[in-house]
Amino acid sequence: MNIHIDQVIKRFGTFHALNEISLQINPGELVALLGPSGSGKTTLLRVIAGLESADEGEVYINGDNVTLDDVQKRQVGFVFQHYALFRHMTVFENVAFGLRVRPRRIRPAKAEIQAKVSELLDLVQLRGLSNRYPDQLSGGQRQRVALARALAVEPKVLLLDEPFGALDTKVRRDLRQWLRKLHDELAITTVFVTHDQEEALELADRVVVMNHGKIEQVGTPEEVYQSPLNPFVFDFMGSVNIFHGRIEDGIAKLGSIEVDASTTKKLDGEAVVGYVRPHDVEIITQKDEADLEAKVLHIHPIGPTVRLELTHVDDKEHIQAEVNREDYELLQIKSGDQVALKLRKLAIFEDK
Ligand code: ADP
Ligand code: MG
Repeated sequence: MNIHIDQVIKRFGTFHALNEISLQINPGELVALLGPSGSGKTTLLRVIAGLESADEGEVYINGDNVTLDDVQKRQVGFVFQHYALFRHMTVFENVAFGLRVRPRRIRPAKAEIQAKVSELLDLVQLRGLSNRYPDQLSGGQRQRVALARALAVEPKVLLLDEPFGALDTKVRRDLRQWLRKLHDELAITTVFVTHDQEEALELADRVVVMNHGKIEQVGTPEEVYQSPLNPFVFDFMGSVNIFHGRIEDGIAKLGSIEVDASTTKKLDGEAVVGYVRPHDVEIITQKDEADLEAKVLHIHPIGPTVRLELTHVDDKEHIQAEVNREDYELLQIKSGDQVALKLRKLAIFEDK
């Protein structure tokens, strides 16, 4: 089932929570809505679900205009961060709930419900826990019950609002991988909200980066990480070094750094910012080939990579570099050393 969102506007009073959002989600896709708190992720998810109505624009599910349909009619399943399972119901009863409350003519027979719930509990790996109550489960188990409950009614699309947000890091990682596998098995079109870029990059087929009720960029995890369209996305997707300067005659001059900027000719004469990821900062032995020199402040060896905190010798700006351990060991860098740095890749944006 595909989802098509066409120029949706949602206001709360005079505040625009969603500002002309258009988005196409393909059948079977797992899409992450990623953005800082308050960027409109939950509102967009609720508009897709029909829990919130769009002030302008349209929502289509599987080609049908559902803009005026309520939640029931849209046949969506959702799971929230703090999904309140029914506390007085067992795991089995929670998962069966959506089927049991159906109108009589479409309600499955008892045996059918039994079979369906067993199948779902197998799927979310909770077989054997069907008689437990929610408070006898761990947080991760509860969220899996919530997911089984959402899937029980065979929704057309699955909407997840920070479903693992309340859990600790380790459990969240496990559940993430588990959700990816489950999604691949079921191939149900899924929209997933998170403010955690790592989660979005690891889990999603495509990432929708949101900010102030607008979409900043839509792309594969690789696209949004490697080729951010603007400073916001660049900054939001990971650590970054920022250099300020100006373009003169097609050359970006950012302090001691001078790089070819002929592809951004339209910015000639303008103030610009150069963005560089720490792993694109290389430590070299040839000083005359360096873009800048810096003094090593701190060294954090973490697994196969080593993070270095440095200060730019010229302007004292803070710089982060991430190098692989072999290079680091080969160079025998110590804190206090002055090193030559080369920038492998520099993205240039207008300095607004
Ligand atoms: P996110 O999920 O990205 O954190 P939300 O979609 O929850 O963001 O909220 C986006 C903005 O809309 C926020 O500024 C929030 O305060 C506002 N907002 C959300 N729901 C309501 C509401 N029911 N009434 C008024 N303002 C709201
Ligand atoms: Mg939210």
